[in-house]
Amino acid sequence: MRTITTVAGMTTARDAATGTVGLVPTMGFLHEGHLSLVRSARAACDTVIVSIFVNPAQFGQDEDLGRYPRDEERDLALLRDEGADIVFMPPPEEVYPPGFDDWVELRGPIAERLEGEHRPGHFRGVATVVARLFRVVRPHRACFGEKDAQQLRVIRRLTRDLGLSVDVVGLPIVREPDGLAMSSRNVYLTPDGRARALSLSRALAEAERLVSEGERDASNIRESARRTLVAAGVGIDYVSVAGEETLEELETIDRPALLLLAARVGATRLIDNTMLAP
Ligand code: AMP
Repeated sequence: MRTITTVAGMTTARDAATGTVGLVPTMGFLHEGHLSLVRSARAACDTVIVSIFVNPAQFGQDEDLGRYPRDEERDLALLRDEGADIVFMPPPEEVYPPGFDDWVELRGPIAERLEGEHRPGHFRGVATVVARLFRVVRPHRACFGEKDAQQLRVIRRLTRDLGLSVDVVGLPIVREPDGLAMSSRNVYLTPDGRARALSLSRALAEAERLVSEGERDASNIRESARRTLVAAGVGIDYVSVAGEETLEELETIDRPALLLLAARVGATRLIDNTMLAP
């Protein structure tokens, strides 16, 4: 496994790669969710490239960029075990060289609602770094988690709009045994916070049950999820029942939908989601 820190080095290594190339973009501090993406890329591609880059452009002013958890040594050991071929870990000035001004900004509900509304500039940062990674790495396949359901849809739109021929693959959310969606940010949680954070997956499970029993009124689903979160003392950023493709808010669950949650447990912001199939 090689580690590469420069765009020039990555470009040369990509030129030398034969067969299909799979890319797994991450911000490091890897967990089983990330590793499931690496395994999927490993199973489908000849060369597996994992990027580790804590992208300053996708963090807001008051967010956790400065304290985002990092453990490079552990990440590299995990990736070696998974059989990754290349780890691309550029410093910020490689990704955003002086004078960089090639921002990618998508419009419409897919990018402007939910995370787009609560984290202004977030998807501009995500879309820009992913477009840049795609141009340097030129992957045939890129693996992303459904954990960040809106991000996945933003990236699908971006590849379509930019005419990139990369196959964007979305993979299921990996959870802790008790239901908490794995996240690098879970290390921020206190024992009490971690217990309260379980309300997110509980709210999702309850919604799945209601829909399986025939509930189709989206406002009842939203209300049920809100009640669960409020009872756990968790601050709500949004509770949304949205069309799976367009992410437009639904009144009736008459097509495949996502229940998307964003909540604050103390200073830790968590997101989670599930599919609701009518
Ligand atoms: P991050 O390092 O948080 O930017 O995540 C990198 C990639 O891993 C993204 O595509 C995420 O959606 C994905 N990911 C993060 N957590 C999970 C999880 N619990 N299950 C599946 N994929 C995940």
